[in-house]
Amino acid sequence: MADDQRQSGKAGWQPRTKLVHGGTRRSQWGEVSESIFLTQGFVYDTAEQAEARFKQVGPDEFIYARYGNPTVAMFEERAALLEGAEDAFACASGMAAVSGALTSMLQAGDHIVSAKALFGSCLYVVETILARYGVEVTFVDGTDLDAWRRAVRPDTKAVFLEAISNPTLEVADLRAISAIAHENGALVLVDNVFATPVFQRSLELGADVVIYSATKHMDGQGRVLGGIVLGTKEFIRGTLEPYMKHTGGSMSPFNAWVLLKGLETMALRCDAQADAAEALALALEGHPKLEKVIFPGLASHPQHALAKSQMSRPGTMLAIEIRGGQEAAFRVLNALEVFVISNNLGDAKSIVTHPATTTHSRLPDAQKAELGITPGLVRISCGLEDPADLAADLMAALERA
Ligand SMILES: *Cc1c(COP(=O)(O)O)cnc(C)c1O
Repeated sequence: MADDQRQSGKAGWQPRTKLVHGGTRRSQWGEVSESIFLTQGFVYDTAEQAEARFKQVGPDEFIYARYGNPTVAMFEERAALLEGAEDAFACASGMAAVSGALTSMLQAGDHIVSAKALFGSCLYVVETILARYGVEVTFVDGTDLDAWRRAVRPDTKAVFLEAISNPTLEVADLRAISAIAHENGALVLVDNVFATPVFQRSLELGADVVIYSATKHMDGQGRVLGGIVLGTKEFIRGTLEPYMKHTGGSMSPFNAWVLLKGLETMALRCDAQADAAEALALALEGHPKLEKVIFPGLASHPQHALAKSQMSRPGTMLAIEIRGGQEAAFRVLNALEVFVISNNLGDAKSIVTHPATTTHSRLPDAQKAELGITPGLVRISCGLEDPADLAADLMAALERA
């Protein structure tokens, strides 16, 4: 089958079919399950072939695992197919993907605009590392379109945001922010981890580059670190790949294989986790021990209508603010028997996190307060357990608050 035919056939598949079959390359053995090519290098038939390949790497040709590997390429292709992206580059972790996407396209003197509500390490990259290399960063409230309009300038190179922010679950208006950025010629880079590739098509909403920590829903079983950047061929192969392959943040073939198997079940897992998140949010809203329940699927969420218009489902994450601050929050966490206390998300195991003392502990108190990371805030990642057990566990633990 010609390559372009194969491509168009796959593009028409439904997401679940793409997640099972997309990007599969079989060896001469015709294996059913994807092979893991645990090799850093590749043998050339002749010196001339090596010379030719270093000049121009063709399809299904590889040089060195830092540049590319068949198992990694399968993962990239499957993820790109799902996202509707022209191309993708797999990275060693979500942070290798975020920092690589930004650093590869920026240089000293450039200006970017970033939402201020970000995952702790994303904030460190944007606020500390990019600033150290002479990139000017303007931070805005990601939900305030006027703030985006004021901050984006004709010389702005990029805007960066999390489609749904960690941990306070603010929903960004991707269509409007992309329009503002594009009027000024700026690229839109979106960290789509909380929204998931199953529930939000950020490229269709206007983003130019979509970034995932594959550690989260793509693995979904807490095993490996990984990241992926998706976008145009020009961005992925022209801008990002030269940076990543020379600086060393490429994905290992073993992790790519684990993630390929993760993608096969991702849509099913995300749906089950979203069911649990919805059930929990409804069960918890109005609970006397809670200040509030934050979940984009609740009508009380400030961007509920926006979430509905951008996402097929409101996601697998919620947050609760427990009355009584850190002491009460710790008593609840310590009383849970099904939920585990950790800081991953999107996992089969339901996870509770106290952002103020863990993922965001580095931030000064004033910044925490500004971002809504209060002492009573608990982030909840819904797993694959029976939702009734999850609700019962939380209700019992809240009695201790
Ligand atoms: C976890 C996470 C990252 C970083 O991913 P790693 O795989 O841990 O490096 C980046 N952004 C968001 C929103 C995350 O949740």
